[in-house]
Amino acid sequence: MTVMKQGAVFICVLAGALSLASAADKVSADSHVHAAHTHGLGSLELVVQGGMLTAHFDIPMESLLGHEHLPRTPAQKKAMVELQAATGQASYFITLPAAAACKLVSLQVNAAMFKGKTAEHSDLDAELEFSCSQPSALTQIEIPLFKKHVRLSALKVDMVSPKGQSSVTLKAKDPVLRW
Ligand SMILES: [Zn+2]
Repeated sequence: MTVMKQGAVFICVLAGALSLASAADKVSADSHVHAAHTHGLGSLELVVQGGMLTAHFDIPMESLLGHEHLPRTPAQKKAMVELQAATGQASYFITLPAAAACKLVSLQVNAAMFKGKTAEHSDLDAELEFSCSQPSALTQIEIPLFKKHVRLSALKVDMVSPKGQSSVTLKAKDPVLRW
C-alpha cells in the first residue's frame, strides 16, 4: 500500500513537470495518470556514428490521430488504417540527405492502438536504422512528420552525432535537425 502511494505521488510530480497547461488540465481531469505524456510533444533519440544512423521516435497518438481512444467513426477507422500503412515507410518519419546514400536497414513500429488496445494515453513507437555509404554528407535530417500532423508541435531530441552529445527541441516551423 505504501509503495503504491509513493508511486502515485511520483507520477503526479512527473506529470506536472512535463506538462504544458493544456496537458496538465487533461491529466488532472483524468482519473488515471499513468503513462502521461504531453500532447503535441514527441521525442526522438538519434545516434549517428560512422555510417550508421538510428532514430527512435515516441509520438503521442493524440498528435497523429487527434484522439487516443480506439477509432469509432468510419472516418477515424480510415485514418488509423492509413496511419498504420504510412508508418510502414521510413520516409514518413525522416528525410536523409540524398548525397549520404543511406539505405534502410530496419524499421519497427509499435503502437498499442494498432493492436486494438487502448489506454488513458497511447504512443506510437518507431525505431529506424540506416546504413549510409557517404557518412560525410550526413550532416542533417528533416522530419516530415510535422507537415503531416499539425497537432505535433515539437520533438524533444537527444542526439549523439560526430560532434558530440546534445539535446535540442525541434519545432514544426523549422523541422531540420543539423549537426
Ligand atoms: Zn495522451
